[in-house]
Amino acid sequence: MDRALHRRHLMRCGCVAALSSFAAAALPPTARGAAPSARKTDMTPDQALQTLKDGNQSFSTDHLTHLREGRERRIEIALAQTPFCVLVTCSDSRVSPEILFGRGLGELFIVRNAGNTVDTTGLGSIEYAVAQLGVPLILVMGHSRCGAVIAATDVVTKNTVYPGAIGQMIEPIIPAALSVKDMGGDFVENAVRANVERTVQRLRHASEPELQVPLKQNKLRVVGAAYSLDTGNVDFFDEG
Ligand SMILES: [Zn+2]
Repeated sequence: MDRALHRRHLMRCGCVAALSSFAAAALPPTARGAAPSARKTDMTPDQALQTLKDGNQSFSTDHLTHLREGRERRIEIALAQTPFCVLVTCSDSRVSPEILFGRGLGELFIVRNAGNTVDTTGLGSIEYAVAQLGVPLILVMGHSRCGAVIAATDVVTKNTVYPGAIGQMIEPIIPAALSVKDMGGDFVENAVRANVERTVQRLRHASEPELQVPLKQNKLRVVGAAYSLDTGNVDFFDEG
């Protein structure tokens, strides 16, 4: 039986309800009693930002904190998540969000792709986290020597053409690279920050009420940052 058919069969015979109560019975009492979706973090935007700064300080100085990642935490958040930050960052394997901020399960709502750009699905994910989950902070974070940004700078300086969907993927980064082309200093590092800056500005001036309303009420902050692969430090260079 294929999965769709199996599902229809389950629904017809009422097994779904039975399965649901079985699942509930299998959960420990703390998880059973939790009210889904009603809970939100009680952190303010400033507290959320400070929590990230403290976590990164611990990580970069090798004072690793005890992560909230065990069975107890898993059960605590099984029915409802209460993340305190939407993190928009790069897919780069060296930029592991929870690790470099010393966070555990259920704390960061992550939008991740090569070059940390925000397309429609990214924006929808951000709006969902803010509007439905009550997240008070959006952090857009690039990183040193980002391959996607290097690719965009190569388009600008060498007219490089990339195959498949890679070219389209880095297109949103090209205006950032162009904006710092004649700036002097390290072209790639300047482009990394310009790329973050453009996304930050776009989110801060979003016309969508999902972001605009909490921003005006000071219930939401959008912050830009860059992570150093060498030091492990996050530089929060645009706090708004
Ligand atoms: Zn990258």
